[in-house]
Amino acid sequence: MNLYFDAAATTPLSEKALEAYIKTEREFFANPSSLHKEGVKAHKELERNRAEIADLISVPPASLFFTSGATESIAAVFSSFLLSTPGKVIISSIEHDAVSSWLRPLERSGWKTAMLKAKGGIVRKEDLEAELTSDTRLVAIMSVNNVTGAVENIKELVETVRSYEKGLKHRIFFFSDSVQALGKIPFDPVALGIDGASFSAHKINGPRGIGALYLRRPEAFTAIAPAGGQEKGKRGGTENLPAIAGFRAALGEWMDGAEERREHIKMLSNRIKDAINGLGFHILSPADASPYIISFASPLPSEVYTRMLSERGISVSSGSACSNNTKGEGERILLSMGIRSSEAKNAVRISLSNGSDSDGVDELIKAIKEIGHGR
Ligand code: PLP
Repeated sequence: MNLYFDAAATTPLSEKALEAYIKTEREFFANPSSLHKEGVKAHKELERNRAEIADLISVPPASLFFTSGATESIAAVFSSFLLSTPGKVIISSIEHDAVSSWLRPLERSGWKTAMLKAKGGIVRKEDLEAELTSDTRLVAIMSVNNVTGAVENIKELVETVRSYEKGLKHRIFFFSDSVQALGKIPFDPVALGIDGASFSAHKINGPRGIGALYLRRPEAFTAIAPAGGQEKGKRGGTENLPAIAGFRAALGEWMDGAEERREHIKMLSNRIKDAINGLGFHILSPADASPYIISFASPLPSEVYTRMLSERGISVSSGSACSNNTKGEGERILLSMGIRSSEAKNAVRISLSNGSDSDGVDELIKAIKEIGHGR
């Protein structure tokens, strides 16, 4: 029985990912950049992993660069713009801090910034259209929101940018933080036409500290410093090969039978939503959100409610804080969606993973009913 419902924060490492990690650490210990035979062997293994991960994400291997995770992938993109000629950057108001915290440094460097509202959790193309100007260089809109599971209309938003761009001499870089999309909704970066995307392995039972940056046109992207030239100069530093192998193993496992698994998660998610609705609590996630994330307005301040669930052995996250370090991030996101402050303060996030099971969901529902409307 699995009582861990905070998979949007992180997931446990799968056995297969751990095995792949250990095996690779033992067998391919050499630096993939070394020219001796062990180095060549490690390099081959690195490229084999890249090809398999790229295939699972449906992107060309040459467009995928390993980083320490989404935060670093995002930083690679935003820092490269920071040092280029200032223009305008447009992001949505529901971005993770890993994206939104770049606005300040960009503003300090002379960039104009705009934040798009996301009423009900969804960014509207009309709002994007209204902000696009001839000096717009970068647009960043996430694929799936980490607080509510809202799935953005990325294809439509990319098309909006592409049609505006026709009258310009330069291209606008469309970035989509896709951490909560990978493996959790049907997601095809190439078909969506995005220029860049970020991923973290630990959200899908892979190791922490490993992730990837997808770049549609790597040749058009210059990292601020290529360091040792690894990852074709997009991300210097010795590659974390064991973690990359763990990422590959976890993603392979996660994607195996992905459609049926998503159906199963949807069924579990609907059961949880029915129970929440039955008690009259407001579900804050849009109706067509990712089934892996459910946010609702609990009857108590979120810290109190999450503690009460924790006392019953159930781990969820406070939708208003999400993590201890980013207090207020969830609340900021919920308020920008038009959620009332009283509800945002009581928000609780339940997030599922492929390891979620019916017995665990039964216990969660039982606990939610037991707590009811509070003391
Ligand atoms: N973006 C989103 C939407 C996330 O949910 C997270 C993690 O919570 C991140 C970015 C940052 O990921 P990491 O901490 O793995 O770099």
